[in-house]
Amino acid sequence: MNMISTATKLIIKLAEGHHLTQEEFRILLENYKDLQNDATALARQKTVERFGKGIYIRGLIEISNICKNDCYYCGLRRSNPHCRRYRLTSEDILACCQKGYTLGFRTFVLQGGEDGGFSTEELCDLVATIKQQHPDCAVTLSVGERSRSVYQQFYDAGADRYLLRHETADEQHYRQLHPENLSPKIRKQCLKDLKEIGFQVGTGFLVGSPYQTIDHLCADLMFIQDFKPHMIGIGPFIPHKDTPFGQMPAGDLDLTCFLVSLLRLGHPNALIPATTAMGTLAINGRERAILAGANVVMPNLSPPVHRKDYTLYNNKLSDGAEAAESKDVLEARLHAIGYHTVIDRGDFQSAS
Ligand code: SAM
Repeated sequence: MNMISTATKLIIKLAEGHHLTQEEFRILLENYKDLQNDATALARQKTVERFGKGIYIRGLIEISNICKNDCYYCGLRRSNPHCRRYRLTSEDILACCQKGYTLGFRTFVLQGGEDGGFSTEELCDLVATIKQQHPDCAVTLSVGERSRSVYQQFYDAGADRYLLRHETADEQHYRQLHPENLSPKIRKQCLKDLKEIGFQVGTGFLVGSPYQTIDHLCADLMFIQDFKPHMIGIGPFIPHKDTPFGQMPAGDLDLTCFLVSLLRLGHPNALIPATTAMGTLAINGRERAILAGANVVMPNLSPPVHRKDYTLYNNKLSDGAEAAESKDVLEARLHAIGYHTVIDRGDFQSAS
């Protein structure tokens, strides 16, 4: 049997058993250009069987671009002197939620740098107030690494979900992307804590980050296979001009879409976003992600005046279909590929 037919069988094996070995993932990744069409078609079919053509929407509120970390890839890194820093007030954030609610959002994602200026108490009060004002909505936090007791306080305040990408599962590679004070073990421990506490947890990785190899991607797929997150967010690395990786090439959209398909086949119930980075790399990047198995989009609900300051990478999209207030543009683009948005919290559910 030639390698391509072996690999095609592995795609079917993944779809049926939701499990492959690291070596089997390697065969898929080494041959991905020949497998893309089959993987996309099967992942799309499985997504539609499970979720129909409805796409969940999350209102993304970028609450602060102040960060104590210095990740080599990120435009918000503390050593970037050109980043115009801001921190939203609780009133700003509540106003974003109110606007989002009117637009039909039933999940609010509060994401930000690791900004010590937001106390745990303030974040907990904020979460509790959002839940009080919008009891039919879910609140997702994505504010980085905290202690287990802080995560517990967020959960007790009413937060439903937490997003924390592991970025890369390989320890050495992690060290090539982050300064020494950041530890891959702590990041993974945070994910474990979040899950044990009871959050719906999202993780994910950068595709095409500097020094990444096929082995690293296999390790990412294995980590996710073992961890079984409720949400899986991946996106291509895109350079930011004011970071040490400013001259590095961006990740590949075809490969990212292929990985979305593999993740869908391995995790049929997972919530998988078509990420902003995919939409930034190509005009139809968001649609391609959906057709490859994504079922969530996260339009930007931040105050428009600050959107250009949350620049994780060059040319990050924040207008058009990426802007919450242009939901009709998003809707039209989804309709063009046969999909539509749904007004729903869009919680993780095991198959019925
Ligand atoms: N501070 C929180 C954390 O660390 O999880 C949330 C904010 S962080 C900026 C959100 C995500 O942006 C990261 O998990 C990372 O994967 C992504 N990101 C940062 N820089 C990027 C880049 N240059 N290209 C693509 N994605 C990037």
